[in-house]
Amino acid sequence: MSPASESYDHVVLIPYPNQSHINAMLQFAKRLAAHGLAATLTPTRFLLATTRIPSPGPVRLAPISDGHDAGGSAEAASVHAYLDSFERAGSRSLDDLLLEAAGPSPVRLLIFDSFLPWAGDVGRRHGIPTAAFFTQCAAVNLVYFHVRAGMVEVPVREAVELPALPRLELRDLPSFLPEGISIFPEFLDLVLNQFRDLEKVDEVLVNTVYEWEPQQIDWLRSAYPVKTVGPTIPYAYLDNRIPSGANNGFHHLSAEGSPCVAWLDVRPAASVVYVSFGSTAAPSPQQMLEVAFGLADAGKHFLWAVRSSEADMIPPGFAEEHGGSGRGLVVDWSPQLEVLAHDAVGCFVTHCGWNSTLEGMSLGVPMVAVPQWTDQPTVAKYVEDVWGVGVRAKRDEEARLVRREEVVRCVREVMEGSRSDEIRRNAAKWREAAKAAVGDGNGSSGKSTVELINKYCSKAE
Ligand code: UDP
Repeated sequence: MSPASESYDHVVLIPYPNQSHINAMLQFAKRLAAHGLAATLTPTRFLLATTRIPSPGPVRLAPISDGHDAGGSAEAASVHAYLDSFERAGSRSLDDLLLEAAGPSPVRLLIFDSFLPWAGDVGRRHGIPTAAFFTQCAAVNLVYFHVRAGMVEVPVREAVELPALPRLELRDLPSFLPEGISIFPEFLDLVLNQFRDLEKVDEVLVNTVYEWEPQQIDWLRSAYPVKTVGPTIPYAYLDNRIPSGANNGFHHLSAEGSPCVAWLDVRPAASVVYVSFGSTAAPSPQQMLEVAFGLADAGKHFLWAVRSSEADMIPPGFAEEHGGSGRGLVVDWSPQLEVLAHDAVGCFVTHCGWNSTLEGMSLGVPMVAVPQWTDQPTVAKYVEDVWGVGVRAKRDEEARLVRREEVVRCVREVMEGSRSDEIRRNAAKWREAAKAAVGDGNGSSGKSTVELINKYCSKAE
């Protein structure tokens, strides 16, 4: 019998079908399951057929349709067309799933990715309480909230001062807003639509730590019933107890049997620069070259996750030359949590995707921020100026990239420069805050999670 049919307290989670959203919601589903609930996650059929989610653990996977079962979003004519199709086909799939569950294991709470507001309508039609799950940080959500409320006009032409946010220069704003940068109106609609009918939901969950962004959360709380539930990563990592052979979340197959951890095991503490640009950012070939030469020049050990789609952008022979000398390892996908939790890693060169940043902060790893698009510039601003856990690489604006000398400067600054001690102290402080937040039922996120369960289900263990 599947876990979902064994228990009466059943929660369904509907993620947006991409890497980071699935990771975060799967981790949260596991946390709910650890409290004794039956949790079902609904990846799209296409995603489930093409990618393995190797360790859902107690979480049941129940595929739904986005209307593109054979080809996924790439098949759709545009982002809008994809979202429309997902809304139509996804609503039907979700209807079926909820009806099917209604007899043996009625759903007590439907947690939907805030990118999919239609799922809230489905829940309401079935009389099921709903929670919107925001996978981006509170500061970024608050920027979008203000834009939607008409506090800022898009395209934004100059720095903005908005309630409960630091002054944001154009370069700090999410990339869909400033003038002169490609705005991607369809993505802008997607992020602003997170607030569509939000007043109708019963809960708003944010994958962040209250203590990291208290003003932003308090501000959002004046409008919505917000609970912070982050970081959703397994507590064992925060507690220095990395599960052996752990594989937490949605990894590409190539991460299986990954050489990363064994390679890190024989490197000195805090000696390695770990580099990753996540799953969606598309750094230009020139940018990849600059990073490669920067890593070569910095003179540190490095572990670089270069997706296969970018593999031919790094200089021919680069991996062999540096890998052969033992100074570097280039892989196409890393088990990132295990890597960031490893003592040998002393610096994380990141695109500042929210999951990566949340993972880096939760594990106390100093960062070099190299934001590419979407929410990443705002997260980079926070990394450097608000949390003080790293430095942000300056772009050569003419060339629209970060030069190799800047990569070297930032890596050295974070690992041994005048600010490195302070950065490490801050990183340790925010890590402790994350650990306290989820550590037991009394931390901010732990308490919210237990409250959530107690409110809608009959037990929270
Ligand atoms: N990730 C990973 N291995 C890699 C690169 C990324 O496991 O080599 C994971 C990472 O731990 C994170 C997610 O993929 O959970 C990336 O999410 P993020 O929000 O940082 O960036 P996005 O992919 O959405 O740009």
